[in-house]
Parts: sequence; structure tokens; C-alpha cells
Amino acid sequence: MKILIADDEYMSLHLLRATLERAGYEVVAVDNGVAAAEILCRAEGPRLALLDWMMPQMDGPSVCREVRQKRNQQYVHIVLLTSKNSTQEIVAGLESGADDYLVKPFNPDELKARLRTGLRILQLEDSLVEARENMRYQATHDSLTTLFNRGIIMELLTKELTRSTRERDCTMLLLGDLDHFKQINDTRGHVVGDEVLREVARRLVGSVRSYDYVGRYGGEEFLIVLNNCDPEGVMARAEEVRMAIGRAPVAASTGPVPITMSFGVLMSRDWPALPADELLCKVDAALYEAKNDGRNCCRLAKPAAREAAVHTMELRRAHL
Ligand code: GH3
Ligand code: MG
Ligand code: MG
Repeated sequence: MKILIADDEYMSLHLLRATLERAGYEVVAVDNGVAAAEILCRAEGPRLALLDWMMPQMDGPSVCREVRQKRNQQYVHIVLLTSKNSTQEIVAGLESGADDYLVKPFNPDELKARLRTGLRILQLEDSLVEARENMRYQATHDSLTTLFNRGIIMELLTKELTRSTRERDCTMLLLGDLDHFKQINDTRGHVVGDEVLREVARRLVGSVRSYDYVGRYGGEEFLIVLNNCDPEGVMARAEEVRMAIGRAPVAASTGPVPITMSFGVLMSRDWPALPADELLCKVDAALYEAKNDGRNCCRLAKPAAREAAVHTMELRRAHL
């Protein structure tokens, strides 16, 4: 564990360094408060600090205040070293943001014990951060496929539509649904069905760019949001994804399972100003068409001429 020590007295700094290095700490030593504050405010700076109270330019409590104000990632456990032991001064030190204090001359065993207390607090912070990150991941990802779940993919789509409208480019939506998936479950079992879903997720992710979004929209339905796409190439792009899914049978635990997928395709610029959930209705209708046309194909959601005219009129009116 890294620890920063700051003391303007050479002998005291030397003694501290020797004690802490012997105890297994990686010591960063500075002889003034300005350098201490600068190092501790770095995002990757040490998370344990031992600061002398009295230092020229910037004293220990001022370093504490600066660190508490500026470093918002990873808590720094700060112990003040002081020859002051009046209650009033100790209160002032703790109020500046210090977690603990030690009165000089310090006892090495007490110093080490207090630092271990600090380490326990930092470990507690780490486990809380990890738990929060796990919860965030679980709330936004589908546990079977690890893709984005329905809630978050819709949120990402809404943000993406706002961005593409502002920047006047085109977002493409692909809603894919596995063909005759129920049959796979019925003839080979649910476990194989799950293996197929996981492999489909991998193939979908592998067939788009790293900054496109892929989500599990429902049981065997997947939503892909491709940003900044070329409107001329939309159907060719959809065909590439469709072929990537059906290119080879899935190597399931019980043997190969051939699969195909049908797709509804939509370009945001064909439906300006429609919110995400309404776009989903449109692309779902196109997917339904693909199913009706024999499956394993892509169909584009195009506004009918009348619908487009009404829509354009509404837009004009909105801009008047
Ligand atoms: P179509 O070509 O018309 O889409 O037919 P289909 O059989 O794929 O469609 P249908 O909607 O009839 O069946 C979907 C099946 O997907 C039914 C459901 O049990 C299954 N399913 C949904 N979620 C999961 C899952 O997490 N794991 C497994 N193994 N199956 C699932
Ligand atoms: Mg299906
Ligand atoms: Mg379905």
C-alpha cells in the first residue's frame, strides 16, 4: 500500500520513512504541504497520508481541506501528526477533514495500529464501490447474454436519437427475432436454447462496431442501434448482420443447431421527431413483415406516402 508522508523536518521525515518501509508500506515522502496536496489530489494518488501539522506555506489542516475539496474519487485516509494536543486544536484538525491524529513524539506501534485502522476503512470503501458497480451492472445488463437489457437499450436509443437529430445524421435500428426458436427449445431443451441465445449475442456484438449498442429486447428478440450510419447502405448493413447470425450452426453441447434470424430495419431520418417507443412500434411492424415473407430476411420500415406527408406537415407546423 502506498502512503504519502509530509514533514518539513528532515530527521522526523527520515524516521517516519524508515518505520513505514519496515512495516511494508510503499512510501512517497515530501517536505512540504504544497507538494503533498498536489500528489494527494491526483486520481491515482496514495490513499493513506500522514501529514505534519506545522509546515511552511501550507500546513497539514490546509492540505486536508484541499484534498477533501478536490479529490472526489477514492477516499484518502489522513492522519495528522502534531505536537499540539489541546482539545481545541485537535477539533480544528479533525474539522479540516483529517480522520485521525497522533501526537509527536509518536510511538511506532501506535502509528502502525492507527494506519491499519485506516486500511480497514479503505477496504470497506473498496467493497462498497465494488458492490455498487455490481448492482449497476446487474441493473443494466441481461444476465443470460450479458448484453444491455431492455430498459437501458431504450435509454441509450433515446439519447442517441437526440444526438443524431442535433447533428443531423442517421441512426439505424435493427430489431432481430430468432426464427422458430420455440422449436429449438421444444426439440433440444431449454439449456440448448440458452446456449443458442448466448451465441447469438456474441455474433451480434461481433458484427457491429464497438460503439454501436446491442441489447436483449425480449426473450429471443434483440435490438441493435447503429449510430452515424450511411443511409444508402442501410439494407446492405442489415443483410451483413443477418448473414453473420446464420453463417454456421451454433455448436451447442448436444450438437450443431442451425439458426436464422428475421429483422425489422429502420432509419431515424425516415421518421424524424418520433420518440424511441414509437420507432420501436414501426420497426416491430417491419419485423412482422419479414416473418410473414418467409423469415430469414430483412424488411425496412418505410412511412407510407400519406403518413410521410402528414408527418412533414406536422414538423413544418412545429417549426413555424
Ligand atoms: P418465430 O419464427 O415466429 O419468431 O417463432 P418462434 O418460435 O421463434 O417464436 P415464439 O414467440 O413462438 O417463441 C419464442 C420462444 O422463446 C418461446 C420462449 O419459451 C422462448 N424463450 C424466451 N426467453 C427464453 C430464454 O431465456 N431461454 C430459452 N431457452 N428460451 C426462451
Ligand atoms: Mg422468434
Ligand atoms: Mg419473439
